[in-house]
Amino acid sequence: MTALLSAEGLSRRFGGVQAVQNMRLDVDRGSITGLIGPNGAGKSTLFNLLSGVIRPNSGSVAYNGQDVTRLAPFRRARLGMIRTFQLAREFGRLTVLENLMLSPQMQLGERFLPLFARPKEVAKIDAEVYARAEEVMEIATLIPLRDTYAADLSGGQKKLLELARTLMIDCDLILLDEPGAGVNPALMGTLTQMIRRLNSEHGKTFLIVEHDMDLIARLCDPVIVMTEGTFLTAGPFDTIRDDPRVVEAYLGGTLDA
Ligand code: ADP
Ligand code: MG
Repeated sequence: MTALLSAEGLSRRFGGVQAVQNMRLDVDRGSITGLIGPNGAGKSTLFNLLSGVIRPNSGSVAYNGQDVTRLAPFRRARLGMIRTFQLAREFGRLTVLENLMLSPQMQLGERFLPLFARPKEVAKIDAEVYARAEEVMEIATLIPLRDTYAADLSGGQKKLLELARTLMIDCDLILLDEPGAGVNPALMGTLTQMIRRLNSEHGKTFLIVEHDMDLIARLCDPVIVMTEGTFLTAGPFDTIRDDPRVVEAYLGGTLDA
């Protein structure tokens, strides 16, 4: 079976820093795959390489069997792989509903509706996007917040909205960069539940880059460990946690769930 997302020999340098070095990984369809590694291991760089925000110096990325190494993020989104983006500041002045209704155009790199589209067509597209937004708010438990300005959301609610925006488009793979950052414990439960439901009921595959071991331990299988820019090992959390090489890589850090 081929992986939904796979990378081979990925390398990326910043000046004299080799941030990612000959990294490989496979994300199997239907999995919630975790990616961990100590600070500076190259996780964020890898995430940006996989989503297309930056290009590798060498190596390749394949999605669903297709080479996407040179494709821009919005082209990858059209193929069904989507990453979350932090809400840009200017969207704080839009409501939750408005943010959702805008995201298909943003994620797919489309221009706003053609200036001369006929009013009837515009109304039809709007109605479809609106219906979808309602569905997505339901899944994301955002209904009570539909008219709240994004700027007024808590850190955790923003994360829910970021994740919800990916659902406005048909996608199979969702890439999450530190979904747990800045989320209070109460909302953390909602967030992990939502990820699990999207996986089991909606068939979404996830790759989650995270340093919160608790979140990784609860959600992810397998867990991929990278260190010094490259692949170290992969497996169920309980196995990799006891792997001496992993413990050594984290020496001085913590690997307690
Ligand atoms: P992680 O997310 O695992 O903490 P990063 O991918 O952020 O690791 O960083 C890996 C290495 O690459 C670090 O040494 C970091 O300082 C360096 N690095 C990352 N991005 C840049 C950049 N834009 N310019 C220079 N160095 C960078
Ligand atoms: Mg990082």
